[in-house]
Amino acid sequence: MKIPVASLLPDEISGSLSLRHKYQGTQIFKWVQSGTLEFQNMTNLSKELRRTLYEKLYISSGLENTLTGSDGTVKLKIKLEDASFIEAVLLTDRNGRKTACLSVQAGCGMGCAFCRTGKMGLKRNLKSYEIVEQMLLLVSGYGRITNIVFMGMGEPLENLENLRRAVEIFHHPGGCGISFRKITVSTCGIVPKMYDMAENGPHTRIALSLITADPVLRSMLVPANRRYPLKETKDALLYYQKKTGKRITLEIVLLKGVNDRAEDMESLLKFIPPLKVVVNIIPWNPAEDIHFKEPSPSEVLRFKNRLVKAGVAVTERYRRGRGINGACGQLCVIDPALK
Ligand code: SAH
Ligand code: SF4
Repeated sequence: MKIPVASLLPDEISGSLSLRHKYQGTQIFKWVQSGTLEFQNMTNLSKELRRTLYEKLYISSGLENTLTGSDGTVKLKIKLEDASFIEAVLLTDRNGRKTACLSVQAGCGMGCAFCRTGKMGLKRNLKSYEIVEQMLLLVSGYGRITNIVFMGMGEPLENLENLRRAVEIFHHPGGCGISFRKITVSTCGIVPKMYDMAENGPHTRIALSLITADPVLRSMLVPANRRYPLKETKDALLYYQKKTGKRITLEIVLLKGVNDRAEDMESLLKFIPPLKVVVNIIPWNPAEDIHFKEPSPSEVLRFKNRLVKAGVAVTERYRRGRGINGACGQLCVIDPALK
């Protein structure tokens, strides 16, 4: 049986092929991680070795199609071995900085009320090589990527082992060499796994989909809150911050008339200290069959200004990729198996 090469480290490549020279594993790793997905194009390897690679290794995912938005955002629809589909997005900012937004599950089982992926339910966890292959398809098509956010489909901390391996590959200096501070894991707050990350790494940045610090409302919008209440979640964030020294991102998907009330602001301001945070305001992106309202730009600004006035660092997520349903929470591939 062929071995999926994407999530193998250099030594594992040498080992699995019983290569005579260890450096060959390093060469192959570099080719793969720089997006060369055809073994015959690995031109510094002998023809014989390339044939061996072809016989023993493979890339499991295929590119189904690509959508490019008017703002340059690219969304790949990717077909997995079992014919499930997932999506990966590439965002390029004004300075040319490229961020990959990767998926960790086909679907998601966490059921957040405002999220399109949540409506799909969970089909399955992705393998580590399926997570890495999204990046390889992006790198192969669009060149070097500087940042990674795990904000595509699925809940990263429900698939921590495979996430961990994928991050190890992305971080490896012989491949993309992306530092942990340029990788963000976004979670709806799976508390025991947050401690696991604090203890055992990877020490990436963490973003919590807080949405609101009002416990009753949060339990309605983010069902994970019923298992892991806000106090426990905050303790886990404090612990992570103490261990890693990293600032935490709090994501607030702004839902007009729902979590933009004065009492939401009040509970948010109470929730924050002594955490060091940046609050990321994400105007809700409409998604089919989900009945919330998006806030107007002036309502977003008002919410933002209230935080700024209170001395909180705020960023607003730019609305990219909406035209191609590639924005946050819009990632959803209608999979016949789920109908
Ligand atoms: N499961 C993880 C990561 C994937 S969701 C999490 O929930 O954090 C990535 C981000 O998209 C999260 O911050 C989530 O709250 C946000 N999101 C989900 N649906 C959205 C929507 N319709 N509009 C805007 N943001 C949304
Ligand atoms: Fe899953 Fe995140 Fe969507 Fe919630 S917001 S359903 S955790 S993908």
